[in-house]
Amino acid sequence: MPEEETPGRWISAGERTWFLRLEGFGVNAGLVVGDDRAAVIDSGAGPTEAAQLHAAVRELTDLPLVLVNTHAHGDHFFGNAYFAAQGVEEIYAHARAARAIADTGEEQRRLVHAVDPAMAAADGEHTAVVLPNRLVDEQPVDLDLGGHSITVFHLGRGHTDGDLLVGSGTVLFAGDLVEEGADPSFEDSFPRQWGQVLGKIIAIDELYPSIVPGHGRLVDMDFVRTQLQQLRQGIRMCSSAISESSADATKAIPILPYTPLQSRYLVERMRDTAGLRGA
Ligand SMILES: [Zn+2]
Repeated sequence: MPEEETPGRWISAGERTWFLRLEGFGVNAGLVVGDDRAAVIDSGAGPTEAAQLHAAVRELTDLPLVLVNTHAHGDHFFGNAYFAAQGVEEIYAHARAARAIADTGEEQRRLVHAVDPAMAAADGEHTAVVLPNRLVDEQPVDLDLGGHSITVFHLGRGHTDGDLLVGSGTVLFAGDLVEEGADPSFEDSFPRQWGQVLGKIIAIDELYPSIVPGHGRLVDMDFVRTQLQQLRQGIRMCSSAISESSADATKAIPILPYTPLQSRYLVERMRDTAGLRGA
């Protein structure tokens, strides 16, 4: 197995910036270490993964930690309770993501059953759903870690309605707005707006030549350009299928550039979000 595919091992992505792959869902968790404190990006699918992640963090730094949740999917935030129990006081998320965690956290437990049965059953230590308490909206937030800052920002609805990105030096943590090795996940998505968000990411390509996707290997902007082209193609095919045969747009599923499952979600979300404009 190449180094970058080994779960649980830090990979350097840039100055003071690392990521590692959590085993359960292959989520990439991030770490940025300043002189005074360090930032952890996403907390894993429950206390089991969070404990592994926290131990890995402590191999690189003893500094106080802040946590960022990139979005409201349980594989990215169910480790919050564990980190809070280790003394982490500030958990950043988009305001809509924090609301979604409050509204859907309990029902999302079942999704992590195979990875963390205690989290799924709400049974045991550090299995509470702990909400983010530092809310980000349309304004970017610069976090000074001491000698190094990160920028936490939102570029519009995309993979969910509350995706955050984290910039650290030349590295961009993109959450599930960018996925490598698997289809984008459309279940809670806003497909047209997602295309606009990818366009905005590409527009700042000179700032961030390296991108840590929510899942998969480190990628560059060419990867994001390809993902955007594929998304635009999928949206075009969906749109014409919906307008030609509103009764059964699912006919488009076999020709879309994604797996049948994600193609079905794309068709559904294209319909459900048809009236929405902008961010
Ligand atoms: Zn996600």
